[in-house]
Amino acid sequence: MTDTLKSINPATGELLGEVKITTSNELTTIVASARLAFKTWRQVPLNERADIIARAFSALEPKHQELASLMSQEMGKDKRRSMGEVSGVIYGAPYSVQDVAMAVKPVDVGGNTQMQYLPLGICAVISPWNYPLAMASNLIIPSLVAGNAVIFKPSEETPLVANEMVAALNEYLPPGLLQIVHGAKDLGQKLVESDVNLIAFTGSMLAGKDIMKRAASGLKRLIMELGGNDPMIVMANANINAAARFAVASSFENAGQMCISTERIYVDERIADAFEKRVTEIASQYMVGPWNDANANIGPLINVTQFNKVKSHIDDAVAKGAHVLLGGPAQQAPYITPTVIANIKPDMLLEQEETFGPVVAIARYQAIDEAISRANDSVYGLGAVVFGAQGADIVAQQLEAGMVAINQGVGGGGNTPWVGAKQSGFGYRGSVEGHRQFTQVRVLSK
Ligand code: NAD
Repeated sequence: MTDTLKSINPATGELLGEVKITTSNELTTIVASARLAFKTWRQVPLNERADIIARAFSALEPKHQELASLMSQEMGKDKRRSMGEVSGVIYGAPYSVQDVAMAVKPVDVGGNTQMQYLPLGICAVISPWNYPLAMASNLIIPSLVAGNAVIFKPSEETPLVANEMVAALNEYLPPGLLQIVHGAKDLGQKLVESDVNLIAFTGSMLAGKDIMKRAASGLKRLIMELGGNDPMIVMANANINAAARFAVASSFENAGQMCISTERIYVDERIADAFEKRVTEIASQYMVGPWNDANANIGPLINVTQFNKVKSHIDDAVAKGAHVLLGGPAQQAPYITPTVIANIKPDMLLEQEETFGPVVAIARYQAIDEAISRANDSVYGLGAVVFGAQGADIVAQQLEAGMVAINQGVGGGGNTPWVGAKQSGFGYRGSVEGHRQFTQVRVLSK
């Protein structure tokens, strides 16, 4: 009997399709053919490699609608968001390709010395379901342009849309260069332990730690983009309306299933009443529903496990004395209705862990140092946001995160890295330094 992965529409429970789980023997063959493909690919001049990759991604254009609908059905986000994600992949690819190609060119550093950025070999790309094509492409593009072969393991929640994208790309790519494997955690572990040279991973902190352990024996290179528990600080001099709009939008985006979604908010008690009132007004305008419901802007949670986790965080907060301003414990899978909870405390799961659901969680502070210390009191350090006027930059300087922003969301300006601090990861993509992490540096002295 062949083992399969079932792809389920999270809104309806409907079976969308099945894919065969890659066996250990198949994986061995795939790794061998990736090695072969790598040997040829690394000889292809950098500019040609860049052209081939850019052409392959541009050729996804006629499949834009199809990929977006499949993505929506498989993971629940609405069609507008899926269209946006696929657009980003297709139209962003030529720019990323160029940026990577520039970054990995050899550089003469004087004294007859050259810095070279050579491919590492085979890169295992392991990705999550929340942005199934964007997260994968963000790692596949730099790997390939840098001259590596890729074995891509998409999330077990989104195998179909990943298959579609890889099949379309492979119409333009040399055989064996980009291969897909299917399975859950155990296959991810086998892939990490197989004869690969680099693991480029986006996913949870726990999985990241396991990958690190398994990669240690071969001292494999790692790029780790892990989870977050992003804080937002709202100072007394903040624009309350702008802060409230951001708080809701960032907590609810992608049904809260976004690595840089706002997870916990610390608001100055002098403006807390007004802020909480405005947050609740804005949040109450959001509606849950399936991807094809034009009025819905919060989709289903990806699966029952994730639903139960979010609900348990809400229940825990209520049991420990938090105040429900909207939504709350009465929830029915697969949706979490827009929820606003005030008076959260450091011992609550909402504050301690990554909730990954559409919940605005608010605490009040008296002194700014207390807000900064609670914001930093986390093993995570992906993003952090401050809303405020004078003094906001001083607060921002003290936040322990890879990406910090004032009066806006984090990340993204130009060719900057997507980077976490602390246990939100290390090894990153984006920027010259990020692109070069997909390579082996060689110093050649002539
Ligand atoms: P996950 O860690 O459960 O799974 C991610 C991928 O890793 C999947 O393909 C899964 O099958 C595989 N996997 C799981 N355990 C593994 C192991 N021990 N060894 C090898 N592979 C393994 O994460 P998820 O639920 O798919 O995604 C949500 C998480 O991803 C959240 O924590 C979120 O914050 C994080 N995320 C981070 C970023 C970022 O840029 N930092 C972006 C998106 C998502």
